[in-house]
Amino acid sequence: MNEGVPQRLARLRDQIGEEARAAGRSPDEIVLVGVGKKQPLEPILEAIEAGLGDIGESYVQEAALKFGSLPPVRKHYIGHVQTNKAKRIAELFDIVQSVDREDAARALARAATSLEKVLPVLLQLNISPADRFGASPDAAERLAEVIRAEPSLRLDGVMAIGPDTSDRAEIARAFALAAKTLARVGGSTLSIGMSGDWREAVRAGSTMLRIGTGLFGRRQEPR
Ligand SMILES: *Cc1c(COP(=O)(O)O)cnc(C)c1O
Repeated sequence: MNEGVPQRLARLRDQIGEEARAAGRSPDEIVLVGVGKKQPLEPILEAIEAGLGDIGESYVQEAALKFGSLPPVRKHYIGHVQTNKAKRIAELFDIVQSVDREDAARALARAATSLEKVLPVLLQLNISPADRFGASPDAAERLAEVIRAEPSLRLDGVMAIGPDTSDRAEIARAFALAAKTLARVGGSTLSIGMSGDWREAVRAGSTMLRIGTGLFGRRQEPR
């Protein structure tokens, strides 16, 4: 991989644009979130300088360390919401994509209230048998009601992680389920698609792609 981050970002944007147009969609409908977890600061800064406006992080501690060094960007929390970290999450992030149960929604709502802010959130859906987190599509409407009852939260749509498989048809089916569930839950953001499955996600109507390794390269795994 001799290609630098700015080149990779430009190429990815071109490819996303082509895929969108092939699906009869406008590339402008699709936000690209660069996922910085377990990536050093340098490539993230390079991507922001090259125009990336959205950064996703999964770990509160890691995000807190990095965010002080970033120019203004929209910060997305995409990790598991532990209720005892809700306050910190609401302080650090502009949007929480991973509200997957009622106690997480309530903890974030309390935190946002105490910070006197309205926190945009997505409801995290479980569309894959191997995924540990996420509300089942059947439980999504009830969870959406709980979120909407909180004045300090604003429900923008849903997020889901595709199944970890090379079976493209299975991925497409899972994303179709996410799109169908968004239609029931309400909202305009469909956050589906990562490095390995963003093409299927664009075809299924994704409005938000979360790309880590496909943009920044391999993650630094803990030793
Ligand atoms: C890590 C992560 C991503 C990015 O994954 P890549 O395969 O590196 O693109 C996207 N969404 C969530 C929720 C993640 O945890």
